[in-house]
Amino acid sequence: MYEFIIELKNVSKYYGYGLLGISRFAAVDDVSLGISNKPLINVIAGESGSGKTTLAKIILRIVKPDKGQVLFNGKDLWRLNRKDLDEFYKSVQPIFQDPYDSFNPYEKLEIPLLKTAKKFLNGNDKEIIAVVEKALEVVGLSFDMIKGKRKDELSGGQLQRVAIARALIPSPKLLVADEPVSMLDATLRANILNIFKELKDRRGINILYITHDLATAYYIGDYIYIMFRGTIVEHGPIEKVLSEPLHPYTRTLIDALPSYEKRERFIKEPIELKETELKEFLLRGCKYYYRCPYATKKCFEEKPPYIEASPNHYVMCWRYVGSS
Ligand code: ADP
Ligand code: MG
Repeated sequence: MYEFIIELKNVSKYYGYGLLGISRFAAVDDVSLGISNKPLINVIAGESGSGKTTLAKIILRIVKPDKGQVLFNGKDLWRLNRKDLDEFYKSVQPIFQDPYDSFNPYEKLEIPLLKTAKKFLNGNDKEIIAVVEKALEVVGLSFDMIKGKRKDELSGGQLQRVAIARALIPSPKLLVADEPVSMLDATLRANILNIFKELKDRRGINILYITHDLATAYYIGDYIYIMFRGTIVEHGPIEKVLSEPLHPYTRTLIDALPSYEKRERFIKEPIELKETELKEFLLRGCKYYYRCPYATKKCFEEKPPYIEASPNHYVMCWRYVGSS
């Protein structure tokens, strides 16, 4: 088996801006990462407008990158033959932020589950239903609990569990979950996060957990990528990164954690300032330049390289150049 299920090599995605949309900025800027075949919970964390969802869509083959390569089991994701592409759609399953968006309002909930099972698996009706039942059991639901119900008859937490059950039907290897608990009440969040943990521990499923919330990231994550304005500014084992953060942006994220209001404000401020966001995206050096207390002329002019500060813990910052 190839070491990585998904590998990104210098991947960039540009979007247009301005009245005519002719000028472009990189929503994902030269990102390289590898999601290993071992069951792990990899986290991508960063404030809104960091490019997390764009990155998720690139991994899910929803968005085609403008530069770089995406590999699935070592093969170019955009040049797969039919058989490998089918394998990709089975192996890599998405979970989105709003479970209400994932289901048709007029359809009874068992319908999309049965459809998914029929699409991916061979078997008679009885076997198909058994697979759906099994998937629902894994997330703490039963066929009877959802049968005949429409999406607005379930709570957000229950519906997100149905969405996870559907994603489990084809026996995926990787779940890409983009802010899967951010629409849910705090009390329901832990429940969904525990399901992810169990999927990893008991079923060996790999999870890419995308979030703006370091607290939930720390709760379930093994390895973390900190994303800021399209770039991964730091990555490493989550314990290490959160206990010994190196990049000034990571530190700000962590400092903002204890007080809930402070954290909310920190996350919201930059997105309201669309102009600032664009200004940061367009920086050719370090994207954190305007906010960084240590910024120098060099940071403005040149993008910093990655420095491996300790085993497997990388930071993209000029301050560490020459110090390792
Ligand atoms: P995040 O998920 O971290 O909030 P996104 O990937 O959604 O970040 O967005 C990153 C940046 O790209 C934002 O400035 C957003 O407005 C912009 N963006 C996202 N999708 C599009 C699109 N389809 N067209 C133009 N700009 C986009
Ligand atoms: Mg997003």
